[in-house]
Amino acid sequence: MNYQTAPDEKRLHCFFKNIVRAIVCPLQLFLPFGNLSLKSSHMFIGHFAVGFAAKKVAAKPSLGTYFLAAQFLDLLWPSLLLLGVEKAAISNDAANPIPLSFTHYPVSHSLLMVLLWSILVGLIYWLFTKNKKDALVLGTCVLSHWFLDLLVHIPDLPLSPGASSVYRLGLWKMKAIELLIEIFLFTVGAVLYFYATKARNKTGTYAAVALTVFLLLIHFLNAFGPPPDSVKAVAWAGQLQWLIVAWGYWVDRNRATKGLHPQEDTTTPTGSVTIRVAHDKQKK
Ligand SMILES: [Zn+2]
Repeated sequence: MNYQTAPDEKRLHCFFKNIVRAIVCPLQLFLPFGNLSLKSSHMFIGHFAVGFAAKKVAAKPSLGTYFLAAQFLDLLWPSLLLLGVEKAAISNDAANPIPLSFTHYPVSHSLLMVLLWSILVGLIYWLFTKNKKDALVLGTCVLSHWFLDLLVHIPDLPLSPGASSVYRLGLWKMKAIELLIEIFLFTVGAVLYFYATKARNKTGTYAAVALTVFLLLIHFLNAFGPPPDSVKAVAWAGQLQWLIVAWGYWVDRNRATKGLHPQEDTTTPTGSVTIRVAHDKQKK
């Protein structure tokens, strides 16, 4: 890149990219999937921000359940890719901010299907808990994914399976701005989560802090890491996101939710014990 002739935005981007690469690339040596990163979507931590923030809105579902809902489409996508139902391609287009084109993903990312996924996730939760508010919040988390993707994707988001028109606002063309917006969203979400919960023990503190740092690290790897080897590698790396969901459950089990009676706090080991004791007493 010629710094003298590059437009201001590109020059700034190059400068920023080189600094982040210098920090991030050595770290990739310690991550088994460093050269794959989680390029399952243009937006990444913005979705986890929604999962974090939702805990402030409805306290009972675990952070893991919220992660599952907010990132549901991108959790589905790698499996559909491996099954050949959806398609992506490695892109050499310089205008494409990540070296991946989302060529065909009507099941995981068309608006019509996303509405159905939102209803399904909310409904399943409601069937198990009979809690309308929490089910509604979880369904909204699933739906939020499409609208956040809409902000950043290059023209590739369909309205329904089979529809040729694709929608996007394409913030990714202004990569630095998109990165900052996502970091801002993530910070707000994480602060809300830390405000809504309290560590029960040291694990509750360290696991939560490590999770936020890890997600930020992946955010930068996605943006500035080397291109993926193949679409298959992307799909397998995408499956690693299930570990982040599990991490969310682990964090939540070690944090108490403020303002929630221990009997209601079913996400914690203590809560489940309390409920069991109360239940036994009732029987007697
Ligand atoms: Zn997505």
